Amino acid sequence: YLAKRGGLGIAFYRPDDDRHTSERLTVVAELREAVERGDLTVHYQPIVRRSTHEVRGVEALVRWPHPSRGLLTPEEFVPIAEENDLIPALTDLVLDRALAQHRAWLDAGLDLPVAVNVGGACFLDAGFPARVRSLLDRHRVEPGRLTAEITESAVLPDAGRASAVLTELRGLGVRLSIDDFGTGFSAMGHLQSMPLDELKIDRSITAQIGATEGGKAVVGALIELGHALRLEVVVEGVEDAATCAVVDSLGADRLQGYAFSRPLPPEELVAWTRPIPAA
Ligand code: C2E
Ligand code: CA
Ligand code: CA
Ligand code: CA
Repeated sequence: YLAKRGGLGIAFYRPDDDRHTSERLTVVAELREAVERGDLTVHYQPIVRRSTHEVRGVEALVRWPHPSRGLLTPEEFVPIAEENDLIPALTDLVLDRALAQHRAWLDAGLDLPVAVNVGGACFLDAGFPARVRSLLDRHRVEPGRLTAEITESAVLPDAGRASAVLTELRGLGVRLSIDDFGTGFSAMGHLQSMPLDELKIDRSITAQIGATEGGKAVVGALIELGHALRLEVVVEGVEDAATCAVVDSLGADRLQGYAFSRPLPPEELVAWTRPIPAA
């Protein structure tokens, strides 16, 4: 390989794969430009309260409206952002959008706390909490209305540095949620030492409810674990009424999934939701 850390941020150039490489170079350059220009959009998926199913908040999920490829989902470009050091800039952009949206909803009488996915690179970035703080100030959003969703695998590799950033974010009053719970090695020691507010059970675990005999028991055990640690428990990937009934009966605090709504552009979300009086 010929190292090529040029302006496009591509780490390696494989001489035997010109076509593929130039396509990738184009995508990386386009993504970098989209992030810099703010040409990404954010969709919002409702998170509802157990049994009453009132909307309690939303998760912000990034989309890339590509000029020729259509609306791209995170699976198609977040890994490229990760490989090319674009996660901090992408996160800043999504945070800015989500907090502006929260403020706009609040001004319209809708109190919808927002959860934002915060990639691992942000936890190695000592300037991140200050930027979050200034975005909260700029949009006049109470810190407790923002939840940072983080994956365990993102913070474990450099737990020392990451925990300083986590602690600082928590110190601002931002809620912290451990995302994709149940998918990786969940080291109990770390779980207990992190200043968390919420645990979010991954949709791959939820999918076991209808699929395997032990699925319901596993989800029930994870909910109990979360509650034993005094965390709020959100179950993601609730796709149908049957799963919803099971998850309600197991005592999860909040539910999210296609059974309620897919992620929606903000204008459609407002039409979908019932207004909640602002505090
Ligand atoms: P995630 O954080 O686990 O987000 C939930 C994903 O599950 C979303 O996919 C959502 O559309 C999907 N989902 C929700 N309910 C259901 C359901 O009932 N059934 C099924 N099968 N799927 C459901 P999406 O929007 O494609 O996002 C995929 C992943 O991309 C997210 O997974 C998250 O890890 C990442 N991501 C999304 N937005 C951002 C972002 O702004 N920054 C970063 N760093 N990552 C992001
Ligand atoms: Ca080739
Ligand atoms: Ca998430
Ligand atoms: Ca997940």
